[in-house]
Amino acid sequence: MELLEYLQLLGVYMIEKEIKSLRDEINKHNYNYYTLDNPTISDYEYDTLFSRLKELEAMYPEMITPDSPTQRVGGISSSFEEHKHKYRLYSLDNTYNEEELKKWYERVQKEFSEPVQLVCELKIDGLAIALTYKDGYFTTGVTRGDGVIGENITQNLKTIKSIPLKLFKNTDIEVRGEIYMPKSSFEKLNEENKEKGEKLFANPRNAAAGSLRQLDSSITAKRDLSMFTYTAIVEQGDFLPKTHWDSIQYIKELGFKTNPNIRLVDDINGAIQFCKDWETKRFELDYATDGVVIKVNRLDYQNELGFTSRAPKWATAFKFPPEEMTTKLLDIELGVGKTGAVTPVAVLEPVNLAGSIVSRASLHNFDEIKRLDIRIGDTVLIKKAAEIIPKVIKVIDSEEHETLPVYEPPKKCPECEGLLITREGEVNLFCDNPNCSSIVKSRLEYWVSKEAMDIDFIGPSVISQLYDLGLVTKPVDLYKLHYEDFFKLENVKEKSATNMFNSIQNSKNQTFSRFVTALSIRHVGKETAELLINEFPTIEALKQASLEQLSSIEGIGDKIAQSIYEFFHDENNLILLDEFEKLGFSFENNALNKTEELLGKTFVLTGTLTSMTRDEAGDKIKIRGGKTSSSVSKNTSYVIAGANPGSKLDKAEKLGVIILNEDEFLKLIGE
Ligand SMILES: [Zn+2]
Repeated sequence: MELLEYLQLLGVYMIEKEIKSLRDEINKHNYNYYTLDNPTISDYEYDTLFSRLKELEAMYPEMITPDSPTQRVGGISSSFEEHKHKYRLYSLDNTYNEEELKKWYERVQKEFSEPVQLVCELKIDGLAIALTYKDGYFTTGVTRGDGVIGENITQNLKTIKSIPLKLFKNTDIEVRGEIYMPKSSFEKLNEENKEKGEKLFANPRNAAAGSLRQLDSSITAKRDLSMFTYTAIVEQGDFLPKTHWDSIQYIKELGFKTNPNIRLVDDINGAIQFCKDWETKRFELDYATDGVVIKVNRLDYQNELGFTSRAPKWATAFKFPPEEMTTKLLDIELGVGKTGAVTPVAVLEPVNLAGSIVSRASLHNFDEIKRLDIRIGDTVLIKKAAEIIPKVIKVIDSEEHETLPVYEPPKKCPECEGLLITREGEVNLFCDNPNCSSIVKSRLEYWVSKEAMDIDFIGPSVISQLYDLGLVTKPVDLYKLHYEDFFKLENVKEKSATNMFNSIQNSKNQTFSRFVTALSIRHVGKETAELLINEFPTIEALKQASLEQLSSIEGIGDKIAQSIYEFFHDENNLILLDEFEKLGFSFENNALNKTEELLGKTFVLTGTLTSMTRDEAGDKIKIRGGKTSSSVSKNTSYVIAGANPGSKLDKAEKLGVIILNEDEFLKLIGE
């Protein structure tokens, strides 16, 4: 072989090798991020790998393979082809209460001599699909359709990163799963659509369906879709599962994302407990669930039980009580918040919604009331979603509706009777009176709250009394209170007076970031305050910051920058800040006292600490240059475990992250 030819071949070989290693690396990170929810590199590092791969593939297009991560971007098709399922997708019979569950189990149990174990899984409210893999490669993805024939949407499914393009084993398998959109992404998508004046989706399920059935799969790629896999059909290979539980463990090992909230139970009582546990806990999840699927665990038992004409006899779907209910709107109450925004609240005829009695619901704002034409006396549909407070979704058509007077938004503040104003770019109505007692009280309440100065023993009722007595009208007054003043409050004895007095005085030592948060600058919450003081670590620096400097901070837009600038150029605010300074508040970002041991380190807190709250521990970490995170990953430097730690401790042990108890933590931070 000629030397030149040899060198060319060697070059191609090296490129091929690099492409392969990039793919493996990217696939590994996709898996960590989208399937395990446990990223191990930064977005920047990921993007660098990805653009290098794209660059090489552009130079050598013949080297592109169907399982390359670059192939997740998609293209345009003219329609979806029909596809006959190899195995029929049955629907499940529903059960609605304990009695029906017990009856179902009796029918199952009487066929066998030994107790029948069950597997309980959350029923994800998404779209069922079937995926086929040949020799480890993803070949076809089909919608459920009528169970016999579905639509081939392989191209769109390829854009979903929790769907592996290649499995960890070269095997043939068909799996089923549910495609869903996280609630948080659904809300974000609707917000964006609202801004663009596009159509809004009714719920995460509709948003997922709309995103999945796009003929242009590059649109699907932009939507945050994910999949939980819950069934595997394994016909051949070196492992043939004997139970449903084992098959779930198996598909997990192949690289599929499965739902972690799954339980193997000995009988129907265990399953009933699982349903009860999740009836309310499901609202904490970032995806919608509408019930629990209960399956017989042993696959040979499943075969023996078989199917009715439409559903398997070995499984049932327990449906949660509805999240939506209709009830009567009795009144619309008005509240005034710390920004002066007047918000309407629905007063309802009490109704049982998803396990709790509801008598109040959010109405968002007056535009929303007008848009939905909500009138007092209407029958309305209310819905409980991720939030604790339910929302009014719509008015139920009725003859009565037309006879009711149209709701007129208030013209005056319900508290101080000042005229209400509108502000550019905001939908709310505002009370513009800085002395409005509602606004003043809300600001004081915010000042002492957990999110701001975190002052124990002072709650809304104490604030209200202090205000009514004329003792406190602005936060700085709290610090001028004398010990004796607290005895003027209802039922206050020496002990609680001491507690309140000390708690207020001690808050002077709170972090600078909490102080800036507590100031209630419009649009500035805890996170923005932290961004702000990282750039401008003293009050002096904040006062001198120009509008341009403020809006150049990442995460701070023009609107927020304007509001910060105005706050620090308002004469009254400057006088107030001087008062705080005279009282001995520290006006410096203590994060400047960074300690070597904590700098850049990530901490996760779990369990209950004795000498401080988790929030306080978080502050101690942050002022020393460390970071806190809510989930454990390989990037976690330390896990601090208090009493009764949660699953985070298990995960830390598994990953080999250093675990500190409270004493060890205090030693580390030098306290
Ligand atoms: Zn007012």
